[in-house]
Amino acid sequence: MNQIKIGAFISDCRKAKGWTQNQLGEKLGVTDKAVSKWETGRSMPDLSLFMPLCSLLEITLNELLAGERIPEENLKEKTEEILFEVITNWLGNDKWELREDGVEAKNVLEVRDVSKIYNTENTSTLAVDSVSFQIPYGSFVGIMGASGSGKTTLLNLIATIDTPTNGAIEINGQDIVDLSEIDKAKFRREHLGFVFQEYNLLETLTIYENIALALTVKEIPKNKIKQIVLNLSERLDISTILDKFPYEVSGGQRQRCACARAVSVNPDIILADEPTGALDSNAARQLLDTFMMLRNDYGATILMVTHDVLSASYCDQILFMKDGKIKTVLNRKQESKQAFFTSILEKMAWIAGDENNVL
Ligand code: ADP
Ligand code: MG
Repeated sequence: MNQIKIGAFISDCRKAKGWTQNQLGEKLGVTDKAVSKWETGRSMPDLSLFMPLCSLLEITLNELLAGERIPEENLKEKTEEILFEVITNWLGNDKWELREDGVEAKNVLEVRDVSKIYNTENTSTLAVDSVSFQIPYGSFVGIMGASGSGKTTLLNLIATIDTPTNGAIEINGQDIVDLSEIDKAKFRREHLGFVFQEYNLLETLTIYENIALALTVKEIPKNKIKQIVLNLSERLDISTILDKFPYEVSGGQRQRCACARAVSVNPDIILADEPTGALDSNAARQLLDTFMMLRNDYGATILMVTHDVLSASYCDQILFMKDGKIKTVLNRKQESKQAFFTSILEKMAWIAGDENNVL
C-alpha cells in the first residue's frame, strides 16, 4: 500500500467533486486536519471510514487502496462490502483457542420456517420456501440443488446479507433477523467467516497484506501481525507466497488464503458459496482437506453450497434443495467418502425421478 499515492488520489477525487477538505471531513464526521493528513500521506483513514469514503468519492475499495482508477474494475458493490467485512474479520484476533469438547450437541445455527420472496416489477419469486433446519457445532454441512433452487439466497439470509420475508434465524442463540444494518455488519465481522467462489482477495495487495490489512490499519504491533499471519499461513501451506499478488498465485492458494482469514476470528460459522467452483480437481481436493482440518483442529462449523458431488462427499450432512424447499437430508454417519459419494448420487437421481413423477 502506497500511502502517499492513496492520499493524492483522495485529494484528486475530492477536488473533482468540488469539495474543500472541510466539506469532505464534515460528511465523514472528521476534521479538515484529518483529511489533510490523509491527502499528504501522513495517515490513513480509519478502517470504518473506508466504505463511506469510497461511496462519497464514487470509487471502489480496490481503487482507494490502489490510489488510482481501475478501469476494468467491475466488482459488484455488494460483494465489495462483504469483502471489506471479511478483511475486518482479522480484527481482534489474538485468541487461538480450540472449541471445548462437549458442546457438539448444541446448535450453532437454527433456521425456522424461513421464506424469501423476491418481488420484481411483474413477477414474484419464492426463492426460499418455509425452510427449517439446525446445524450442530463443529459440523461440515453441504447444501446441494440445481441452479435456481435457492441455495445462494438461503446462504445470504444466514449471512445477514439479505433479510427473510418470514421466519427466524438464530446463530449461536442470537436472533439475526431483526438486527439493524449497523448491528448486522458488526455481527458479520465478529461471528461469521466467508469463502466465496471469487472476489475473495484485493488484487492490489500482496497475499500477506490481504491477510494483514485490517490489523495494519488498526495499528496492532507489526510483530504481532506477522506472528498471526505466519502461523496461519504455515498451517494452510501458503507461507511461500506471502509476498506475491493474488494474480500471481493459483486459485487454490487464493482460496486457502481466504480460509485463513475466515477462520482467524474463530467465527461461529464459516459460510462458503461454491468455493471449489473455479478450481481444478486437485486444488478443490486440497481446499476440502483444508475445510476438514479447520473443522477437526479448530472446531470450525462450515456451511458450504456446492453442486459438485465430489465436494459434497466431504460433508457430514447434505441438505438437498429444490424449488426453494429442502427436499431431503442425507447424513454421512460412519460411511466412507466413497460410499457417501454413491449415496449422494442415488439421492440426486431420486430427486430427479421425483420431478418426473410430478410432471
Ligand atoms: P441458486 O443459488 O440455487 O442457483 P438462487 O438462490 O440464486 O439459486 O436463486 C433462487 C431463485 O431466486 C431464482 O429463481 C432466482 O432467479 C431468484 N432470485 C435470486 N436472487 C434474486 C433477486 N435479487 N431478485 C429477484 N429474484 C432473485
Ligand atoms: Mg448460487
